[in-house]
Amino acid sequence: MSQFWSQTVHRLTPYVPGEQPALPGLIKLNTNENPYPPSPAVLAALHEALGEDAAVLRLYPDPEATLLKATIAEQFPASGITPAQIFVGNGSDEVLAHVFMALLQHDRPLLTPDIGYSFYPAYCQLYGIDCVRIPLDDEFTVRIDDYLAPQCGCGAIILANPNAPTGRLLPQSDIERLARAHPDIPVVIDEAYIDFSGETIAEIPTAVPLIKHLPNLLIIRTLSKSYSLAGLRIGYAIGQAPLIEALDRVKNSFNSYPLDRLAIAGGTAALRDRAHFDMTRRAVMQSREWLIGALRGLDFEVLPSATNFIFARHPRHDAAHIAASLRARHILIRHFKQPRIEQYLRISIGTDAQCRALADALSAIVNASG
Ligand code: PMP
Repeated sequence: MSQFWSQTVHRLTPYVPGEQPALPGLIKLNTNENPYPPSPAVLAALHEALGEDAAVLRLYPDPEATLLKATIAEQFPASGITPAQIFVGNGSDEVLAHVFMALLQHDRPLLTPDIGYSFYPAYCQLYGIDCVRIPLDDEFTVRIDDYLAPQCGCGAIILANPNAPTGRLLPQSDIERLARAHPDIPVVIDEAYIDFSGETIAEIPTAVPLIKHLPNLLIIRTLSKSYSLAGLRIGYAIGQAPLIEALDRVKNSFNSYPLDRLAIAGGTAALRDRAHFDMTRRAVMQSREWLIGALRGLDFEVLPSATNFIFARHPRHDAAHIAASLRARHILIRHFKQPRIEQYLRISIGTDAQCRALADALSAIVNASG
């Protein structure tokens, strides 16, 4: 029993998300939330969905989330996406969990970058899937050539684009090469942060247009970041109908209601307010460029970022010390104790005022101990 128990505990080592402390007055730049509120239309939609007395909550939600799926499809007018090509879940983490349940071949390894979203190896461990972690190159970039060997024997490939926590973006052509090289296995691209690149909405470098030609490509998206709805838990996958049907089959067996009424109403309203979406993503991108400049001015080495966070190290100051010193000043950022990146800090982009407060605090810290 004790061996069974220790193996079980090992297998069930969870993915650990960033802290959500309940302290007031914190500058919270540790979990890549959006610093701006969601569209005002979200609040109105939530009120409307609840009605006068919330009696509607007696009733189960729409098992197909029809309205939300139709609205998601409308976001990709050039790609001809239909609701049958969309799967929705409680945040993209839940969507990814369904990918592991429905699409991964548990007797063949998963390929993923060695520095990437830690959810993927945690889920491999849960299912006993061999996780082959391919090193990023010297610039912290995913080298697609390292994933192309057709004889890799792998059962699936998952990577985030832009990658997390590095923030670097691969061009659509790399995603296409990857999916074409492995036509018989799912290639899953997690685009949690993709909306924070591209000058205009039409220029957001998503791989969704490739879906039409690539039956093995699955794109994962979330409303947690660029739509400021982390608290409502809405994520989705886009792929050709057979992949989506596989996800639906698993979901239907365990919980046939993918999202609650409020998530469906609030998510739909957020997606429809294109002006608010564009305004807030631009504001984040602008603050990001300001913050990168400010940190470089303090001698930080900062990777280029296509996301709502930056990844930076100081050549002379210890990352754990900087993170602790910021915390003492009520500023939370993320520090990963993983080999090769233990001297890096991941900092979510805040409002302009939060970015200025962070830059001031970092200036005080590096100048005090320098
Ligand atoms: N993918 C990546 C790369 C992430 O960083 C996150 C956020 N931790 C997620 C997916 C999950 O986001 P959510 O479940 O809020 O949609």
